[in-house]
Amino acid sequence: MIERTAPDGAPTVGVIGGGQLARMLAAPASALGIGLRVLTRAADDPAAQVVADTWLGDWADAATVAEFARGCAVLTVEHEGQTRSDAATCPVHPSPQALRCAQDKLFMRRTLTEYGYPGPRWAQVTDVADVVACARNWGWPVILKAPRGGYDGRGVWRVADRMSAERVLADMSGGLLAETSGGLLAEECVPFERELAAAVARSPSGQAVAYPVVATTQTDGICTEVVAPAPRLSDDRALAASHLALSIARDLAVTGMLTVELFDTGTDLLINELAMRPHNCGHWSIEGAITSQFENHLRAVLDFPLGDPRLRAPCAVMVNVLGGTATGLTGAYRHVLARDPQVKVHLYGKAVRPGRKLGHVTLLGDRPEPLLVRARHAADYLSGRITE
Ligand code: ADP
Repeated sequence: MIERTAPDGAPTVGVIGGGQLARMLAAPASALGIGLRVLTRAADDPAAQVVADTWLGDWADAATVAEFARGCAVLTVEHEGQTRSDAATCPVHPSPQALRCAQDKLFMRRTLTEYGYPGPRWAQVTDVADVVACARNWGWPVILKAPRGGYDGRGVWRVADRMSAERVLADMSGGLLAETSGGLLAEECVPFERELAAAVARSPSGQAVAYPVVATTQTDGICTEVVAPAPRLSDDRALAASHLALSIARDLAVTGMLTVELFDTGTDLLINELAMRPHNCGHWSIEGAITSQFENHLRAVLDFPLGDPRLRAPCAVMVNVLGGTATGLTGAYRHVLARDPQVKVHLYGKAVRPGRKLGHVTLLGDRPEPLLVRARHAADYLSGRITE
C-alpha cells in the first residue's frame, strides 16, 4: 500500500474533473510539496496517468464528492458541468455561486449586464420568431449559443438566416437543449478584428495579479494559437483589459484563475466569456511566465501569496497540437526536438481523434512571427500534418 497523502501536514488540493488542466497542476503541486487529488469519471484520464491520488467517481453525486473532499484542505473545480461541490465540508474555490457565471452563458450575460460590463447585444431566445426579432435589430448573422454544456465551439452556431436558425433549433431539440431550461443565448455577431484574453489570479483574501493580455486565434471554435503579450496592443488598452478582468474577479468574488475572453473591435473591448480555472490561453505561462497559471491557481485556492505573473522573455507563443493522422505522437520527438532545441512540448496522454486537443508547444523569444513559424512546424509535425 502506497501512502498517498501529502507529507508533513502539507495541504491537499482536491480537483473535481480531470483532463489536461488537472494534469498540468501536477508539476507545480509537486514543486510546492503539496498534495493533489483528482476526481475523474474516466480511468484513462490525462490527469489519472500522472496523479497517484486519483479517484474514479461521479462528481454529480453528493456522497462521492463528500468522501473525496475528506482530507482535502480545499476543493477546486476544473469542470464546467454540474458538480456537487456543495457537498464538500472543506472550502471550495471558486465558490459554486461564482462558478455559475462560467457554467451558464445566459446567467453570465445577465450578471455582466447588471454590473455594466461591455459585451455584445444579447437576448434569451426560445423559438425562431425570437431569433428573427434579434436579427431585425442587429442584422444577420446571429450567434446562437447553448447556455450550458458547450466547449471548443461546440454549442455555438452562426446562423445566417431564418432557415439555418430553424435547423439549429430543430437539431437541438435533444442533446444540448435538453440541458437548458430557459432556451438559448442569442448574440449579435461582433465584427471583431481579433480575440484577446485577460487572465488574473485572485485569492480568497483578495490578493490579485494580472497576466499579460494575450492575442488568441480560434480555428473552428478551438483555441489554436496564443501570443503573449498581444502584439500592437497599446499600454492603455492592455491596462483596460486587465482592469476589466480584475474588476470582474472582485465583483463576482472569483477565487483561483479567471480568464476573460475578449473581442477587440479596434475601438472597444467586448467580453465573450469567462473561465474560472486555468485556461488554454494561459498555457504559455508554464515556461513563459515567472509563475505559471497552474501554480498561481494552486496558490490562490490555498490563499498563499501569489507569484509574479510577468513574462520571462519579450514574447511567448503557444500552438496547440490537434489530432491529425499521426497515432503515436512521441514518434515525432526525434525530429521535433532535434530540429528546435528551444521548443517545449507538452502532450496530454490523450487518444488521438481528429481535431482533438492533444498537447501544445511553447517558444520564447523576441518577436512573435518567427516563433510562430517554428511552433506551427513542431505542432504540425507532431500531429502528422507535415512530414518535413
Ligand atoms: P466556447 O465556450 O465553446 O469556447 P465561445 O462562446 O467562446 O464558445 O465561442 C467560440 C468562438 O465563436 C469565439 O472564440 C468566437 O471566435 C466565436 N464567437 C462567439 N461569440 C461570438 C459573437 N457574439 N460574435 C462573433 N463571433 C463569436
